[in-house]
Amino acid sequence: MKKNHLLTPGPTPVPAEVLLCMANPIIHHRTPEYEEIFAQVKKGLAALFQTRQDVLVLSSSGTGAMEAAVINLLSAGDTALVVNAGKFGKRWADICRAFKVNTEIIEVAWGQAVHPQAVADALKANPQIKAVFTTHSETSTGVLHDIKTIAAIVAGYPETVLVVDAITALGATAVPMDDWGLDVVVTGSQKALMMPPGLACIALSQKAWKLTETSQLPKYYFDLKKEKKSQAKNQTAYTPAISLIIALRKSLSMIEQEGLSKVHRRHQLLAEATRSAVAALGLELLAPESPSPALTAVKSPPGVEVSALRGLLSKKYGVTIAGGQDHLKGKIFRIAHLGYMSTFDTIIAVSALEMALKELGHPVQLGTGVKAAQKILINL
Ligand SMILES: *Cc1c(COP(=O)(O)O)cnc(C)c1O
Repeated sequence: MKKNHLLTPGPTPVPAEVLLCMANPIIHHRTPEYEEIFAQVKKGLAALFQTRQDVLVLSSSGTGAMEAAVINLLSAGDTALVVNAGKFGKRWADICRAFKVNTEIIEVAWGQAVHPQAVADALKANPQIKAVFTTHSETSTGVLHDIKTIAAIVAGYPETVLVVDAITALGATAVPMDDWGLDVVVTGSQKALMMPPGLACIALSQKAWKLTETSQLPKYYFDLKKEKKSQAKNQTAYTPAISLIIALRKSLSMIEQEGLSKVHRRHQLLAEATRSAVAALGLELLAPESPSPALTAVKSPPGVEVSALRGLLSKKYGVTIAGGQDHLKGKIFRIAHLGYMSTFDTIIAVSALEMALKELGHPVQLGTGVKAAQKILINL
């Protein structure tokens, strides 16, 4: 018998209560029953985003909301600034270029956080920049970027908006959209929201909504002005992913019940425990300086093939962790502590890692990492 443990930074495990919501017969969405559910979803999302703005729900993976941000704010020939510190930062640049937006890039070494001063310098050098695209938690490297400081810088430019990919940040750490003055925040369902993939969420500040009035880029399905109108009436412009919306109501109520600050603290402690275990095992973090609470990226020790490690973990122990992406493929592995995860998910991750490393010939004193993790997790 093999029991499976999904310990990746998306998709993440889905609680049984949430899964069961989707087992019910489908209901029609143009009904008061659906509208009541959608109203509750909107409330839960506003609490999670810590915003008074509308949080819109789209039927797509997270990238759909990223594309929506670009095409609803900008016009061909506009200039955007992109912080590229990993695979998801690069995605902003790819989307901008696909829509013929002039794209200035701040290149940051993978594993490091952008220096907010670099954003300040770029904006000073080019006042044409209409939007700054950033990633709060860069899932490819496990870095948490200092979005609060960057927001304070962008706030000094009345014609420039700050767009934040908070896909593995929201629900893992505080993303107080209104307090920090974030103009666009996007997330996806299969990360901290404890949901299957298929929904994306996006919220815009008043400053960002103003840009939607002048944006000329082509859009049809992801027309946010149209969605805003529909969703104000608890409907969507097109058929919503009804089962996922019903499940989202449940996962948002679970987050509310735990309490947002406790949810954040849980992620913080799981992350600390994982990092402490990794250090006790003599392994090196990819991002020791500004680690994300959503996942921990670890450099594979010399002599240990990441593919062999992941293969053994999966085949023998039923444990799925992520590898590296792009040029980090084969160099790192990534352990998630994101969404529906608690103390013993982290213990499973660490103990399985120890056993697999030992089996692959890497010197490991079994229990070393587990002990280090336990010392932190006992405080949860
Ligand atoms: C998962 C993720 C995305 C979106 O990916 P999809 O596959 O489209 O859901 C974007 N940015 C970050 C930081 C992510 O972790």
